[in-house]
Amino acid sequence: MASPQKAREFGPLQRDVSIIGQGTWNIDENPQRSDAIAALRRGLDLGMTHIDTAEYYGWGAAEKMIAQAIEGRREEVFLVSKVVPQNASKKGTIAACERSLQSLRTGYLDCYLLHWRGQYPLEETFSAFEELRQEGKILSWGVSNFDEKDLDEALSIAGEGKIACNQVLYHLRERAIEHAVLPWCAEHGVALVAYSPFGHDQFPDPTTPQGRALQSVANAHYATPRQIALRFLAREPNVFPIPKASRVPHVEENGKALEIELTKSDLELIDTVFPRGRKPRSLPMI
Ligand code: NAP
Repeated sequence: MASPQKAREFGPLQRDVSIIGQGTWNIDENPQRSDAIAALRRGLDLGMTHIDTAEYYGWGAAEKMIAQAIEGRREEVFLVSKVVPQNASKKGTIAACERSLQSLRTGYLDCYLLHWRGQYPLEETFSAFEELRQEGKILSWGVSNFDEKDLDEALSIAGEGKIACNQVLYHLRERAIEHAVLPWCAEHGVALVAYSPFGHDQFPDPTTPQGRALQSVANAHYATPRQIALRFLAREPNVFPIPKASRVPHVEENGKALEIELTKSDLELIDTVFPRGRKPRSLPMI
């Protein structure tokens, strides 16, 4: 069997990024307990080199923990952090990025995101992003929790080819982005990063009809329900799920998801059991 594709082009960047990445929200920030660090490092060994963090996660604590995990391996990593909206003025964005760089003990971020929209005009935040990019402190920038109207506005300010990604909520039971955000991103060459791909802490229980259906697909592939979930989300060519796992066995399980080839009937079953539903008025987020 040919080895599975583990990385693909990330939006407008002339660069491949691991299809399955690693989230770090609520990661154990105590470096004395090394499980989370070992898990992140194991993920890097397995090619899950896209690491997602944010100043918001423990107000720098998650970033400091990641600094330890990636020590000596910075070049392998596609490192992403985010500015919170209350810091996203022009000056505030630059200061927040400097703090993140210090916490992460690195000279640059591969991508820097606006965590969600807030009170500052996008022009200000994007102008800070561009300044940071010109100084080499970030290699690219993007947005998070943007619906299609936000994306239209962002595009009208930044122009094509500037927005690397939109990071949004996407899991089996929350497929709202498939209505408009996902096609928008595909059309404009913006990577779609799927956060909370396991539903944060609400993965389908194996005793429910949804859980049983997922298990039946998993059984047919000698796989696990979580692997099926990741494989399903990554079926579109510009989607990059970023599961968070703080234990080595969890990372190892997630890292094998791309070895599965879902059949047409698997996809149909998943579609039936986890329907896309109607388009909601506003983009769901957590
Ligand atoms: P998630 O990835 O959907 O689920 C994380 C949960 O799944 C944890 O409890 C984890 O347990 C468990 N898990 C992972 N792999 C497992 C496995 N193989 N078997 C059993 N359990 C497993 O949730 P999330 O953390 O909300 O989302 C992922 C990342 O997306 C975040 O960490 C963050 O980086 C990003 N995010 C971004 C936003 C945004 O607004 N941009 C919002 C939410 C999240 P263990 O930790 O014990 O392994």
